[in-house]
Amino acid sequence: MTAIEKYQPSQDLLKNRVILVTGAGDGIGRAAAKTYAAHGATVILLGRTSKKLESVYDDIVAQGWPQPLIHPLDLELATPEDYDQLASAIHDELGHLDGILHNASMLGKRTPIANYDVNTWCQVMHVNVTAQFMLTQALLPLLEKSPDASIIFTSSGVGRKGRAFWGAYAVSKFATEGLMEVLADELDGISSIRVNCINPGATRTRMRAQAYPAEDVKKNPHPEEIMNLYLYLMGPDSQGVQGQSLNAQ
Ligand code: NDP
Repeated sequence: MTAIEKYQPSQDLLKNRVILVTGAGDGIGRAAAKTYAAHGATVILLGRTSKKLESVYDDIVAQGWPQPLIHPLDLELATPEDYDQLASAIHDELGHLDGILHNASMLGKRTPIANYDVNTWCQVMHVNVTAQFMLTQALLPLLEKSPDASIIFTSSGVGRKGRAFWGAYAVSKFATEGLMEVLADELDGISSIRVNCINPGATRTRMRAQAYPAEDVKKNPHPEEIMNLYLYLMGPDSQGVQGQSLNAQ
């Protein structure tokens, strides 16, 4: 058993914390939003499909966990003004922000670089990298108000070692690791915000099925089974952990 598998978060680990989760309507983001709420957080559910976000909202409310907020936003289309509006809404409704889980991303095409469609390339880089940069930039002032804020980016094995045919997705994950490292170094020692990356590893979601259509899905864990690292990095037990890229499995 790894240290993270042995980690036992307290039930009220995230009590009174406000945490934004992107891509909260499906897959790992859905599981993380519910897990954070189950540990006491008020979660802001950001995603592009309102129906999915409403279903997560209903699940959280039915459990009696803190009432979440829904913020529909398509990261492909959102402008800096949209992110500023989000920051104002969080400020007005909740007063502070203690964490961001940058989870939403898109796979794009799995095809050789020689054939990679330029529009798909730009779309993947925008959703997976530039949108995260804009969202983070807009929300940094709110995070600075928190005594113990955490930003988590989501990486991938192909964001650490490039592999054939993973195209813009792999390159975007290298960039995500880079964004995390640059921001972590900028904030280290001058801010209480910590910045780290999670590589979830093979997990049973729609994106995994899209990337590996022939795979036996049963061999991969459900998102709910990999939440220990998501809790550890979001909560106070990871104070002082800065600039790390860690594996959830
Ligand atoms: P899913 O495809 O299941 O979920 C992705 C989420 O991102 C969905 O909620 C989706 O919304 C949202 N999203 C996609 N595009 C946009 C957009 N333009 N605007 C807003 N939201 C958007 O993927 P996973 O849960 O598997 O992936 C979660 C993270 O984990 C990703 O960053 C992925 O790269 C990473 N990862 C996953 C692995 C795995 O094996 N599953 C392995 C390694 C990394 P909607 O539902 O509305 O489409």
